Amino acid sequence: MSNGKLRETNEMEIIFDAVSENEGFARVAVAAFMTGLNPTLEEVSDVKTAVSEAVTNAIIHGYGFGIKENEEIGKVRLHCSIEKNVIRISVEDKGVGIEDVHKAMEPLFTTKPELERSGMGFAFMEAFMDTVQVYSVVGEGTRVVLEKMLGKDCE
Ligand code: ATP
Ligand code: MG
Repeated sequence: MSNGKLRETNEMEIIFDAVSENEGFARVAVAAFMTGLNPTLEEVSDVKTAVSEAVTNAIIHGYGFGIKENEEIGKVRLHCSIEKNVIRISVEDKGVGIEDVHKAMEPLFTTKPELERSGMGFAFMEAFMDTVQVYSVVGEGTRVVLEKMLGKDCE
């Protein structure tokens, strides 16, 4: 029940199988979660694109299309929180990790050119979000933290 006060914080977490079908699910889940912030269509679209890129990376690069070495399907953890008008999204995998994060984030850098990846995922995340932070340990996994302040255009 609402007590009439506007909630300033909110949080959700989803853990799903690292399969491509779930990429669309993750995008829509975040879009639905952020409606409480009264976002513009452009803001929703920006966040969906960034989430999509991060989740696709977890599936394709982190787990090599979902399957870990022991044949188990890897899991992606999506955590979202809202504080005032800022949305913070964390996309985490327990996959292979990234050897050189700085290099991986350079536009056009890809380790999978044979799959026709263009190496623009991180560049898009940086273009559409305010901040992109990447934490990764080889052999342990990767966490990408995306942040965006909403409502900047109507100040
Ligand atoms: P595109 O996103 O344009 O299809 P891409 O995925 O190769 O191509 P980026 O998303 O910018 O490009 O990622 C750059 C590189 O960083 C990848 O090629 C991969 O080597 C590495 N990488 C990104 N995310 C992960 C991850 N979750 N686990 C392991 N490696 C990753
Ligand atoms: Mg990518």
